[in-house]
Amino acid sequence: ALSIGIVGLPNVGKSTLFNALTKAQNAESANYPFCTIEPNKATVPVPDKRIETLTEIANPQRTLHATVDFIDIAGLVRGASQGEGLGNQFLGNIREAAAILQVVRCFDDENITHVDGSVNPIRDIETIETELLLADVQSVEKRHDKLVRSTRGNKAMIPVVNGIKELLDHLNEGNPASTFAKRDSDVLADQLKELSLLTDKKIIYCANVDEDGLAEDNEHVNKLREFAASRGCQLVKICAKVEEELQGLEDEEAQELLESYGINESGLVQVIQTSYKTLGLICYFTVGVKEVRAWTIVDGYTAPQAAGVIHTDFERGFIRAEVIAYDAFVENKTEAACRAIGALRSEGKEYIVKDGDVVHFLFNV
Ligand code: GDP
Repeated sequence: ALSIGIVGLPNVGKSTLFNALTKAQNAESANYPFCTIEPNKATVPVPDKRIETLTEIANPQRTLHATVDFIDIAGLVRGASQGEGLGNQFLGNIREAAAILQVVRCFDDENITHVDGSVNPIRDIETIETELLLADVQSVEKRHDKLVRSTRGNKAMIPVVNGIKELLDHLNEGNPASTFAKRDSDVLADQLKELSLLTDKKIIYCANVDEDGLAEDNEHVNKLREFAASRGCQLVKICAKVEEELQGLEDEEAQELLESYGINESGLVQVIQTSYKTLGLICYFTVGVKEVRAWTIVDGYTAPQAAGVIHTDFERGFIRAEVIAYDAFVENKTEAACRAIGALRSEGKEYIVKDGDVVHFLFNV
């Protein structure tokens, strides 16, 4: 499954955030028996008002949200690309993540040491991203050398070797792989996929603030917002400590605590929702008396591909999909009522499933 890797310098609040996510996982784990529990992974439900609404309408025995996986990637320090800290082990873990959640310290607290002596979000980001870039330079250098050796005399491979050299120059000039102009060219597609470069991944910045930074942005967050916007990246603000506390509380108590800090929604909800969207994921729903469930798909999946998420047999034996747009379902309440007014469409193999579709698949076994 696609996952989000949590990175950041030491003492910025990664473990605290990861603990909050793990608690969110454990609170729901009885409902998700198919999710394997691993120490550095948290599989958490994606909060979504639509599935609550569908549950009220259908009153099923159980409700299953879509989930998103977070991986705790400890050990990123200055010099990691040269083997400092956990070095290469850490870099390998990050390579497997589809996107990166970078936790940035935006709280002042004299009792909690900052590895570089002061709180400075932009400098911290540069430290982290320099390590990612240096690791990429190493990977691409290695790849380039290997290609030069193995393709000598092979004319067809010249454009690939040249392309990799251009990428290396681009990185050496301090630019991330994500801005490399030929990143999407057919010539390099296979290479880039195999390399899975760290600076090619989407980044979400997570500003970790103190309780008093929640209602109003502090100066660190102001700077970080500007920076994230200049990069075209999402920024979410949380207080990791408060999030950990919230996870133990009943809904009403949690709401009271949030209000006491001057906010009405938990930052963790935003972290989860933003992560899900950044991965390019959407969901469709199945609605029955036994179960209301959200199924995660990649935006752009066809109906048979979407059916395959439920079961491979559904994809293989796909006949058609009966689809009701979310709003139409909520308005009419049942499949029969939707059918009667013509709000139920019969869709074939080419149909691209939309976010929120209520779907019933017909298939051969
Ligand atoms: P990590 O090294 O990035 O995993 O950081 P930790 O999650 O272990 O946090 C380092 C220290 O900062 C711990 O003592 C946390 O309790 C504390 N901490 C985390 N978030 C906050 C926060 O929002 N405000 C304050 N004052 N301390 C925090």
